[in-house]
Amino acid sequence: MRILVIGGGIGGLCLAQGLRQAGVAVTVYERDASAEGRRQGYRLRISPEGEAGLRACLPQPLQELLAATSNVRDDAGLLAYDENLVEQWAPRFEDPRADREDKIDAVDRVTLRRILLAGLEDVVVFGKNFERLERTERGTVVAHFEDGSSAEGDLLIAADGTNSKVREQLRPTDQPTDLGIRTIFSRIPRDAAVAAGLPEALHDRFSYVIGSDGHHLGLMPMTFRTRPSEAAARWWPGANLVDSDDYYMSVFNVHLADLGLDDAAFFALSGEELCRLVVDRTAAWHPDLRGIFTHALPETTFAVALRATQPVEAWEAGPVVPLGDAVHSMPPSGGVGANTAVRDAEALTRLLTAVVRGELELAEALAEYQKAMVEYATEGVEMSLKIAQWSIKKVATS
Ligand SMILES: Cc1cc2nc3c(=O)[nH]c(=O)nc-3n(C[C@H](O)[C@H](O)[C@H](O)COP(=O)(O)OP(=O)(O)OC[C@H]3O[C@@H](n4cnc5c(N)ncnc54)[C@H](O)[C@@H]3O)c2cc1C
Repeated sequence: MRILVIGGGIGGLCLAQGLRQAGVAVTVYERDASAEGRRQGYRLRISPEGEAGLRACLPQPLQELLAATSNVRDDAGLLAYDENLVEQWAPRFEDPRADREDKIDAVDRVTLRRILLAGLEDVVVFGKNFERLERTERGTVVAHFEDGSSAEGDLLIAADGTNSKVREQLRPTDQPTDLGIRTIFSRIPRDAAVAAGLPEALHDRFSYVIGSDGHHLGLMPMTFRTRPSEAAARWWPGANLVDSDDYYMSVFNVHLADLGLDDAAFFALSGEELCRLVVDRTAAWHPDLRGIFTHALPETTFAVALRATQPVEAWEAGPVVPLGDAVHSMPPSGGVGANTAVRDAEALTRLLTAVVRGELELAEALAEYQKAMVEYATEGVEMSLKIAQWSIKKVATS
């Protein structure tokens, strides 16, 4: 069986790692010219399901490398404040991983992508911008790329993200819905934030500030357990990991109605202008909070519109199967989009391996995958929406 994966993001690469380990032939076609990531945030929360999926797909040394470069274990839990830094709310979430020493609860996205690429040099083809697919009379699928080349396979996995071109061709009406929230992501060096007076209680936990003005801020630490280059030297010297200072990822949410800018104007703002917008909008906030924004790095600051797929639906049975954001986009508010893509990759790896071993019919395997995927992805979208809508409600009533 020849498997083509369109998109070398988190889900597509995780699937390739899993299939590679199981000895199943796979090729990933990625539009980016190289392994350098795009602007999709800096720190990724890893859920218990996400960690289990990553571990199932990665060989042992890469699991060790991922754990070694993950965030210092953060057991302090989420704390929510108002803009005067008065504590509001401290929910506790059950985590079946409890006190496990090697628990992976957050990772740096660039480091994760390089770990997912490790050992796949002959599997991932960069610079292949998928344009359209074609079904042949032989029952195979041909993917056509912008550079005029094409590839033929027995199965095509659409792992090309939230603006999926594969989906556009097969299910053009399945567009994710705009939730009306605009988010500014930024990266703030930890040392600078601490020097600027970030209160100690906020140093090592996920903190959330709910402004009475309707603006919301999330602040999440990424403190590497081990320097990536040092960990790579021990576990996978060819992984090409790049060192990074510890940092906070900040997430500033504004409702469109409160923004006072239309999308054309908002998305044209430079990183510097976006940083200034956050500083201006939080002018009345506690000085210890405001101080840290002045250290946000403009070149790392960018804006996104929050969107969600509603409802999540299985695609038609056949040789084209979706994975990840291509079929279930969700706002990052829940921190489960990537985890769900990894879960898809783990399920597909398991089922396709059974097909290759002659233990399961292909059609049966794909139907089982899509049924389970729709169920857990719907839960993920609903949970993420609940959190995002909580934000919308706050803004709307302010
Ligand atoms: C700022 C931000 C923060 C987030 N934080 C979290 C978090 O903490 N936890 C979490 O679980 N999720 C988080 N998410 C969501 C998460 O990033 C996505 O759900 C996840 O990346 C989806 O994986 P994917 O493989 O489906 O798509 P992607 O990772 O987007 O990968 C798609 C790949 O397909 C490629 N591609 C696209 N079009 C083509 C084409 N035509 N031809 C070839 N290749 C193509 C792209 O270049 C890309 O490499 C966050 C998202 C954002 C934007």
